[in-house]
Amino acid sequence: MDTVFIDGSKGEGGGQILRTSLTLSCITGRSLHIENIRAARRNPGLANQHLICVRAACQICNGQAQGATKGSRILDFQPGPVRSGDYHFDIGSAGSASLVIQTLLPALFLADKTSTVTVTGGTHNPMAPPFDFLDETFLPAIATAGFQGDCKLIKHGFYPAGGGKITFNIQPWQKNKGKIIDLCHTNTELQIHGRIFTAKLPEHVAQRQSKLLLQSDLKIHNVEHIDVKESDGPGNCAMIRICSCERTTVFTAFGKRGKSSEQVISEVTSLAEKILASDTAVDRFLADQLLIYMALTKAGSFTTNELSSHLQTNMEVIKKFLSVDFNVEHQEQAYRIICLSP
Ligand code: AMP
Repeated sequence: MDTVFIDGSKGEGGGQILRTSLTLSCITGRSLHIENIRAARRNPGLANQHLICVRAACQICNGQAQGATKGSRILDFQPGPVRSGDYHFDIGSAGSASLVIQTLLPALFLADKTSTVTVTGGTHNPMAPPFDFLDETFLPAIATAGFQGDCKLIKHGFYPAGGGKITFNIQPWQKNKGKIIDLCHTNTELQIHGRIFTAKLPEHVAQRQSKLLLQSDLKIHNVEHIDVKESDGPGNCAMIRICSCERTTVFTAFGKRGKSSEQVISEVTSLAEKILASDTAVDRFLADQLLIYMALTKAGSFTTNELSSHLQTNMEVIKKFLSVDFNVEHQEQAYRIICLSP
């Protein structure tokens, strides 16, 4: 089999280029040579969390990796056949458990039997899909194309302490049903809910953030407060859930020492306001995460309000491995992404 060469400094220049490359290498059986890993990040090269992604990819397909050391900017990966199984990974830091799952999921969907994956690490991290997003937004979206999985939060893990735990159940892809992702239509009958997580923080933080959410222009129906008792460290996450009868879109913003509740709430409300103003169906985060699943079905389309750099870069990486193309149609504040089989 040939080797796919990837330049990790292209486009977004972050960890997603590595994760997408690893998973598609497992799926296609093509070896991977990747250079300039995470060149656009402040701490380039492989961090703990990425090393776990590499090790996890090796484990599910009995693959071999050279250059899998901390800080390494070059990696060679030779995959073997993907095997279903019961896998456990411990990031050993607050690195995102969701991003490890993101690496394995597409490959394990293509295995012949059900798999379970349990990851210990961060479950609610900035710059990564929080557990609630995976559960309520991502998994239902890919299920429309026959990728059936469910997930369970065993323990919350907030940055920087981590120590959370997520478990995933992954069913073999129901390819023969011919279902595709078609997320182009918006629904006007929406209910908007707020959710505030706090761990080891005084009660007034949640009270203040709940009040700010209810005062926003979003007409939020209600705000629930989840006071996480079992957490290795402090944490705060504000969530907006836009719910229709068809789907739920979860947006999040994270609090940290020195960041005001006003900032946290304005971050999360502005994400929600942007998509509501655009009349599109898919948020900027889900958009880049759907591409692999569309590419596997060689079909599908969605509308989104932003052509993010993650989205554009992921299209380019996917095209290096699979013979698919993506069309982008642009109209005012909306982009329609269509996956085509050339
Ligand atoms: P990278 O920055 O290259 O490591 O990729 C980060 C990944 O996490 C991308 O797939 C993003 O779509 C995803 N992501 C980042 N922030 C969020 C968020 N708030 N909700 C859902 N997904 C996110």
